[in-house]
Amino acid sequence: MKITVAQGDGIGPEVMRAVLNIFDKAQVPLEYEQVQMGKEVVLAGDRTGISESARHSVESTGILFKGPMETPKGGGYKSVNVTARKIWGTFANKRVYRTFHGVPTPTGVSGLDLTMVRENIEDTYGAIEHMQTHDVAQCRRFITRPGSDQVHRYTFEVAARKGARRVTCAHKANIMKMTDGLFLETFYDVAKDYPEIEADDVIVDALAMRLVLDPSEFEVVVLPNLQGDIITDLAAGLVGGLAYAPSANIGDGICIFEAVHGTAPDIVGTDAANPTALLLSGTMMLRHLGLVTHASVIEKALEQTLRAMHKRPDLGQPIPLFRTSVFTERMLDALEGLHIPQEQLPRLEVRRRTEPMMRVTPAPESTLLRGVDVFLESGLPPKRVEAELAELGGGLELTMISNRGTQVSPVSSAYTDCVNHYRARFEREGRVSQHEIVSQLAAVGERFRLCGAEWLREIDGAQGYSLAQGQG
Ligand code: NAD
Repeated sequence: MKITVAQGDGIGPEVMRAVLNIFDKAQVPLEYEQVQMGKEVVLAGDRTGISESARHSVESTGILFKGPMETPKGGGYKSVNVTARKIWGTFANKRVYRTFHGVPTPTGVSGLDLTMVRENIEDTYGAIEHMQTHDVAQCRRFITRPGSDQVHRYTFEVAARKGARRVTCAHKANIMKMTDGLFLETFYDVAKDYPEIEADDVIVDALAMRLVLDPSEFEVVVLPNLQGDIITDLAAGLVGGLAYAPSANIGDGICIFEAVHGTAPDIVGTDAANPTALLLSGTMMLRHLGLVTHASVIEKALEQTLRAMHKRPDLGQPIPLFRTSVFTERMLDALEGLHIPQEQLPRLEVRRRTEPMMRVTPAPESTLLRGVDVFLESGLPPKRVEAELAELGGGLELTMISNRGTQVSPVSSAYTDCVNHYRARFEREGRVSQHEIVSQLAAVGERFRLCGAEWLREIDGAQGYSLAQGQG
């Protein structure tokens, strides 16, 4: 069976070489189609960082095993890693945190086997960003019911396979009542289909503290994308660092296996890169392909190697520095002494697609348009903005003005500092038409520079928009 391999940037080629050597020694029955992805492809003029031949290869093998790829901070091209996860629909990012004998952990935790599933496509990672004014940047955060359903369902399946008794959903639904609220609501909807597994939830900041105090409290945790990105690195710290954090990006048709760490530019070419995270991502891939015995043999050799490498040569001497070459040699030696399974045929079938799948849940019984939030630019103080807006026609009633999400009209505090970006809420009782909203926008646009607008909807009687901070 053929899989696609992209070595990546920075330490990518070093750790990938080590891992494929180990796979060869373990007689893993896979063929590797090497493709170009990452910085080199971007520099050659393709800003996606994914060459045409790489796209073709991944879409035909269904499996991408990749090294880390560089992303510039601030400006520059978009993350190739995130692009790959998104275009190929890998909706769940599964990360497994295990402690290994001999690998020191900063909090002294041992015997840990924690699974985290991070939603992988939505949230702020849509990276839909706009400068609203010269002072105000905006990032849109989308959480969807179908996307949340997919990741929660996958998480419960993982928990069932692991034999876990409990799945915990982390969120910030106390503050982001619509977005994280939808993620949490969908979690409990899906949980009903898995009555044998306990479902509970935790606010993400409390999770961070509880993980440091006692990570064994949790078995399987599912998180939205950005919160998951941060908390999973915390979990990596618990088991000894990023070098011990593998991941699998799971999609319906395509799956991507990669280490959690980046390109480690500070250690490129120094023989200090630890291939463990990529190797463990590789064994996750082998299990996914049905090569369970190969995965177990390699993990056994890894346990022996890590235990031996971290052992002090003599009492009182420091642990020698990690060397990629020494690690690889020891892994090959350890495999020499183990029984390598002869026959294991992959069982994966690539689910071929010819067009994107529409994921839409049944329509609600009623959707009512109530008004519009208009975002506008103004450096005037709130009372002046209110006076100017009050003079406008347009047909809808001005009910609230906020600045940075805090109400500044009708009730405000002199201590609420403002920037040049206001939200004015226009609404009225009863059903409002789209035409009325467009007229209202046009009226505001006569006086102010428009920055954007959001429709206010009631869905099945529930208010589908948030109140401003300080709004009664
Ligand atoms: P990083 O993970 O590359 O490095 C953080 C620290 O961990 C560094 O000190 C590094 O030397 C060390 N480290 C990481 N992996 C190691 C390993 N296998 N063995 C030993 N030490 C290791 O994170 P960063 O410095 O924030 O990012 C560098 C680049 O990598 C950026 O361009 C970033 O966008 C990219 N990145 C890519 C991915 C990915 O491809 N999935 C993930 C994270 C970061």
